[in-house]
Amino acid sequence: MSILVTGGAGYIGSHCVDVLIEKGYDVVVVDNLQTGHEESLPETVTFYQGDIRDKRFLTQVFEFEKIEGVIHFAANSLVGESVEEPLMYFDNNVYGTQVLADVMREQDVKAIVFSSSAATYGEPKEVPILETAETNPTSPYGETKLMMEKILKWCDNAYGTKFVALRYFNVAGAKLDGTIGEDHNPESHLIPIILQTALGQRDSLKIFGDDYPTPDGTCIRDYVHVLDLAEAHVLAIDYLLKGGESNIFNLGSSVGFSVQAMLEEARKVTGKAIESEVVPRRAGDPSTLVASSEKAKCILGWSPRYTEVDTILSSAWKWHSSHPEGY
Ligand code: UDP
Repeated sequence: MSILVTGGAGYIGSHCVDVLIEKGYDVVVVDNLQTGHEESLPETVTFYQGDIRDKRFLTQVFEFEKIEGVIHFAANSLVGESVEEPLMYFDNNVYGTQVLADVMREQDVKAIVFSSSAATYGEPKEVPILETAETNPTSPYGETKLMMEKILKWCDNAYGTKFVALRYFNVAGAKLDGTIGEDHNPESHLIPIILQTALGQRDSLKIFGDDYPTPDGTCIRDYVHVLDLAEAHVLAIDYLLKGGESNIFNLGSSVGFSVQAMLEEARKVTGKAIESEVVPRRAGDPSTLVASSEKAKCILGWSPRYTEVDTILSSAWKWHSSHPEGY
């Protein structure tokens, strides 16, 4: 029996595939390679290039392979782009999940781990954020992730398909040997942008606002290592395959780091000056997002290993400095 990973050639998907293979699972990957990289996949993976919205294609994969459970990453994931192109996000993310859920129902596959996001919360009323906090997304991207969770909730109700939704905070870092890592084009995330600046690919880091109500005025985020995140997906699929009930978990490190603090740490890790300049705030950025991940620790037995921001930065640096142009 195999685990199907949709979007397995993407940044988080490929790290999850790597951990699954290391633990001895048979893995089937479906990815349309719109943003994913086939080079990120190990040779032992069975790879199908195609789109989850293509029901005939997806059905054939399920008919050809013996799929026991699904880990679902395939989605568009840029907040800014989703504001510009909301219908593209509803189509790929929401309709894609609907087709996947439908094929799972037809093929009687009852376990799905789903890549959700802290963007489902919107601007939090309390920090750290618990899973019980109000969900009020401030972007189409966050809205699609919430709608995808709801599709799965109602499929559980009607067909008994069990799901775990994992709401990620800021995912960063790379496999420790630097062989796979983050390769987005265009890049919008803080850590890769800092490291591209360290490599001389950008003139300076633009800090989006230093007038937030935080100690140094820059936004605070909760950064979690991609390998710890990958591990949580494996725990979650095991939990479902052992009969666990549908559930939602936050995944973060529970520690807040400001943009300025991250820049200073990156200067230490890379030994580079890394120029920066303060520019106006980016629309829609909440001041502080920090997770409570106690629930994932208690119920899934998640125990993140790479919690130091140094490990996150040095692993990302190993990847970026050895692959300056990406894959
Ligand atoms: N950020 C920044 N400059 C950049 C990219 C990001 O100052 O070039 C800030 C951004 O405003 C946010 C934090 O870094 O406060 C993390 O942003 P990112 O896009 O990595 O993740 P997000 O928190 O938006 O999911």
